[in-house]
Amino acid sequence: MNSSNKKQTRTQTAKNKTSADNVLRMIPLGGMREIGKNMTVFEYGDDIVVIDCGMAFPDNRMPGIDVIIPDTTYLMENRHKFRGVLITHGHEDHIGALPWLVKEFDVPIYATPMAMKLIEIKFDNFRPRITSDKLQVVRAGDTLRIGEFEIEFIHVNHSIADAVSIALTTPVGTIFYTGDFKIDYTPTTVRPIDLGKIAEIGNRGVLALISESTNAEKEGHSLSERDVGKAFTEIFMQAKGRIIVATFSSNVFRLQQVISMAEQFDRKVIILGRSMQNVFEAANSLDYLTFKKSTIVDIQSIDSFPPEELVILATGSQGEPMSALSRLAFSEHRSTEIIPGDTVVFSSSMIPGNEEAIYRVINELFMKGAQVIYESLSEVHASGHACRDELRQIITLTRPRFFIPSHGEYRMLYRHAELANDMGIPVDNIALLDNGDIVEFTKNSMNFVGYTEGAGILIDGSGMGDVDEYVLRDRLRLAEDGVVSVMVAIDKVANRLYGDPVVLARGFIYESEMHRIVELCRETIVEMADEFWKKKKPLAHAMTPDYVRDKVQKALYDYSRRRPVVMVSMMSI
Ligand SMILES: [Zn+2]
Ligand SMILES: [Zn+2]
Repeated sequence: MNSSNKKQTRTQTAKNKTSADNVLRMIPLGGMREIGKNMTVFEYGDDIVVIDCGMAFPDNRMPGIDVIIPDTTYLMENRHKFRGVLITHGHEDHIGALPWLVKEFDVPIYATPMAMKLIEIKFDNFRPRITSDKLQVVRAGDTLRIGEFEIEFIHVNHSIADAVSIALTTPVGTIFYTGDFKIDYTPTTVRPIDLGKIAEIGNRGVLALISESTNAEKEGHSLSERDVGKAFTEIFMQAKGRIIVATFSSNVFRLQQVISMAEQFDRKVIILGRSMQNVFEAANSLDYLTFKKSTIVDIQSIDSFPPEELVILATGSQGEPMSALSRLAFSEHRSTEIIPGDTVVFSSSMIPGNEEAIYRVINELFMKGAQVIYESLSEVHASGHACRDELRQIITLTRPRFFIPSHGEYRMLYRHAELANDMGIPVDNIALLDNGDIVEFTKNSMNFVGYTEGAGILIDGSGMGDVDEYVLRDRLRLAEDGVVSVMVAIDKVANRLYGDPVVLARGFIYESEMHRIVELCRETIVEMADEFWKKKKPLAHAMTPDYVRDKVQKALYDYSRRRPVVMVSMMSI
């Protein structure tokens, strides 16, 4: 496979600042060897168009970092050529970095209606607020000419409304960029993916296919959105109390299914969580949702309905600590909490890395007496991404000369490349790229010609400032498990504790959890002192700071499986 091995190529290849004549240049600035911050530059002659401009969320090795955005150095160096951004759909990994891009470049942004609504909400909520008079709505089926690029938007199925593939035709040939997609023959409120159009583009000839790889490890075909409806029907038939559905807020099809199901079973729907409300309003303003006005009720009126007449649509399917579902689970929500008899449905997949957070919420929900249904128990979620059969189908229809897997971690790209090779695309015509790699196409060749900055920029708060790695490491130590400080006073004469130990805990997200931690530390120390007193050992000698720290640390670990930093100060009176 034509993998660009940086150790070799980066020392041998000079940085190419601009493209030669009659070649099409492609530079992924994000989305390769990762899921997140998708952004790809296409350059022909004096024109550059960019597809998508997403953000990535930091993993747990980067505490305090809000987001990661693509590095746009290449665009700054070629600012005079930059003609516009084409958006495939409104997910964060495709639009999230637009506020930073728009601050730097005053270029048109072309997006479909739902994506544009979400971009507008994003710009409105950004501080300082972003305004742009260059937002242009496009629709599947539209064509556009930007400089040397002939652009077509093609309707696809995905877990958000208005997702499109993009075909870019240039003098050297056509690039077919799938964006995120699945092939759903029985979607709920929209048409199936426009396979006819894709076949037509394939018949005209496709130079290169750039195809997403999220589910490239999964054999077969993704579940249809309609199948999710069947699973929901069963849940609604069996639930005796409230039904709480957690899902990705941008999945309008899922929101619609839950709302329709609620109407069918005479339940009212409460929308909980800011992003859920935003998307609901955006989709509603586009007439993408169908429901009776009386179906949606406000959280304030929750007490006017018996549990069996309520459905709550909530954010938090990934266990996000500040989300509506987490607040409900940990009794931190202003208006309501989990009550026995509730049925909680996780209508989403677990994004790798979030399992621990999700299971924490699930455990808490069970403890509060809720019935919890999640992916492994029922078909309550259909992935928005194509599995291997669907990926094969796109290759069959487009019959590309060159193939570049994108939108995936390295192993996903690799498995996708293998699949393409099995279908007859020669190894030399497949490229496993990294972010920042520069590839050039002619009518009959694809070559790696250099690289640009591709590592991404860490955003701390809202400033554009980079964050030093040392700062990160310090934060990691402190942030991971929290801090507990213990102050103990000993009455030497009585050989007892002088008053209660003072315990302070920091770095625990929930008030309730913090109280439990503090109580546990106090109990441990009081018991310890009682033991020594009974054995007539002098506390002032037996209870050394090290001894106390070890015991407290052990108790905390037994309870929470975490190792907070414990600081002990002792005083004898
Ligand atoms: Zn997506
Ligand atoms: Zn995506």
